[in-house]
Amino acid sequence: MTIDDLLRRGSPTLSYELFPPRTPAAEDALARTMQVLAETAPDFISITYGASGTTRSTSRGVVQLLAEQHTIPPLAHLTCVDQSRAELTEIIEEYLSEGVRDFLALRGDPPRGQAHWQPHPDGLTYANELVTLLREVAHAHGVDDLTVGVAAFPAQHAMPRWRQQSTDVLKRKQDAGATFAITQVFYETSQYTAMVEDARDQGIDMPIIPEVMPIVTSRRAIRAAELTGVPTPVELVAALERAESDDAARAAGVAHASRLSRELLDAGAPGIHVITFNQHQAALELVESLGLTTR
Ligand code: FAD
Repeated sequence: MTIDDLLRRGSPTLSYELFPPRTPAAEDALARTMQVLAETAPDFISITYGASGTTRSTSRGVVQLLAEQHTIPPLAHLTCVDQSRAELTEIIEEYLSEGVRDFLALRGDPPRGQAHWQPHPDGLTYANELVTLLREVAHAHGVDDLTVGVAAFPAQHAMPRWRQQSTDVLKRKQDAGATFAITQVFYETSQYTAMVEDARDQGIDMPIIPEVMPIVTSRRAIRAAELTGVPTPVELVAALERAESDDAARAAGVAHASRLSRELLDAGAPGIHVITFNQHQAALELVESLGLTTR
């Protein structure tokens, strides 16, 4: 069953995001996290794709592990960063030969130390081109049950000067063959509903799954804002700073994420995609608070 099939099911999907481990200790922690998260019977788990060759091959390893050991559909992130069209084609072919059918097509973040994103001289410039390439390669190999998702940005969409471009870019991705989107993290339900409404007005009918990040330390709140450019709500930062223990901070972060997720589901979101930072406790508490786990 592909992610498209799951999204047509009618009840909210539950999914998680993991990133490829960088050390043997992180590998062990990830194995444990996967084990615990698998018990909540998620609909899929996505694996991010880094800028360096090493993390890229680790991403593939995690994707394979999920498919083989946990029988959870992996959603393989893929980016255009620093790869030629021929290299991307080869990676897509390898994934397809391993049975991967679900992809998240992204332009990608610039590699560390590079201020601005630059396309590879023989590569792709925008995510919509990667959607097209995925469809072309799959078609050439006779694969017709491919699901291609893309990124959407509710907080950026809320800025008047980006609003039209944000919708146009999403439309281009759908026209290229994307069938669902996952959002960047955001903290206001109205940003999500406004983005979805504008999308529907422009004929974008793909399901748009909101990404929710339980932020459980003030350090992480700062880092998340730096990475995404989306400010962490001041009341959440204050609650994390006020907390007198790690447990109290986690409870505050999970409660915040839970409120947002409930509002989003009530507003018609087709599911919740939970950022885990490869740690299971907060993610687990969040999905339990929402009643999304079948445990
Ligand atoms: P694009 O859609 O290509 O957009 C990039 C910029 O170009 C935007 O400013 C857009 O407005 C503009 N643009 C797009 N198309 C056109 C066009 N045809 N003409 C003119 N302008 C255009 N990054 C990673 O490196 N690895 C990951 O695994 C990863 N996972 C992510 C998962 C999610 C759910 C999200 C939301 C983001 C993820 N990112 C990841 C980050 C993402 O790659 C960056 O945010 C990147 O800056 C934008 O990616 P995009 O796919 O939206 O790019």
